[in-house]
Amino acid sequence: MASKRDYYEVLGVPRSATSDEVKKAYRRLARTHHPDVNRHDKAAEEKFKEINEAYEILSDPQKRGVYDRFGHSGPSGGFGQADFDYGRGFGFGDIFDVFFGSGGFNTGEAARERPISQRGTDLRADVELTLEEVATGAEKTVRLSRMETCESCTGSGAAPGSQPETCSTCHGAGQVRRQQTGFFGTSITVGVCPRCHGEGRVIQNPCKECGGDGRVRSTAKIEVKVPAGVDSDNRVRLSGEGDAGIRGGPTGDLYVFPHVRQHPIFERRGNDIWCELSVSFAQASLGATVEASTLDGKEKLHLAEGTQSGEVYRLRDRGIPSVNGHGKGSLNVAIKVETPTKLSGEERKLLQQFADMRGENLDAEPEKSFFEKVKDAFSGR
Ligand SMILES: [Zn+2]
Ligand SMILES: [Zn+2]
Repeated sequence: MASKRDYYEVLGVPRSATSDEVKKAYRRLARTHHPDVNRHDKAAEEKFKEINEAYEILSDPQKRGVYDRFGHSGPSGGFGQADFDYGRGFGFGDIFDVFFGSGGFNTGEAARERPISQRGTDLRADVELTLEEVATGAEKTVRLSRMETCESCTGSGAAPGSQPETCSTCHGAGQVRRQQTGFFGTSITVGVCPRCHGEGRVIQNPCKECGGDGRVRSTAKIEVKVPAGVDSDNRVRLSGEGDAGIRGGPTGDLYVFPHVRQHPIFERRGNDIWCELSVSFAQASLGATVEASTLDGKEKLHLAEGTQSGEVYRLRDRGIPSVNGHGKGSLNVAIKVETPTKLSGEERKLLQQFADMRGENLDAEPEKSFFEKVKDAFSGR
């Protein structure tokens, strides 16, 4: 895309200019460069278009806000803090030209009140992912109903064989000049052309397929690459996969919302995953080699002698990759020592013996009273 001049520069106003200052600057420039004043001067015509485009943006607080924040390139990550842009070859910048410039069309006389070419709506699609898919990234197919460019008129809205025609009221400039003679003399105002709504072109013969909208509803199947590491609060943005614009307006975007399904074993905490591993009292006490589940199969885990319940074994880089591609979380295995139950008589005897050997009294003595403790302290017991 050719580099565009800064809109403020075009109008010759500071970024802090009030809407009144913007309007004044625009009027002054529009008067000088209006096609009626500079007939057959291509450079003046271009200049006039540039001025109008700048004014269209800067005079609208909402568009101006977007422009201030994103410049000509438009918003690239409008939603969450981590959006992933899988552009389809054209950026918002290219679209911007069509949207605010004079490339769109209108359906002419019968449709005067219709809006000019418009950007298509952004659409939303949801995909469900398993934690395993999150770990590796996944390709998902999304089916959706959306507006697509009418093939019959290739989006122009004009019947095949016909062309949008240059508006006869404004001669394609999209603007009209009104001369008024009042008390203080003659004043000239420039406004949006009432016939073409600033488009510069009108459609006399609307396309029958789309009724002049330049788009028709259809069902689309879209492959979405969901990057590894996404979480349910991320959005994947597919630029230009939303609704087609009206009469050649830019296409909206598709936002894909991933939903990560709950895992039967693992719990995700950021990029780390956690699970619990039950081991026997003997394994925990003597040490053992056990099998731990990971996101890609089982893995041997060496339990140290004397492992306590609640101890965590951390397996580095076995968690979820960071969504921005830097590093991986870990897999944390929390050990749970299982107390043996349903003991046989023999087992019971052995455990009792074990306790005796360690000098354990299974039935705790009743708590000594405070006075007894004081007495013990004095007698040195
Ligand atoms: Zn059509
Ligand atoms: Zn016009």
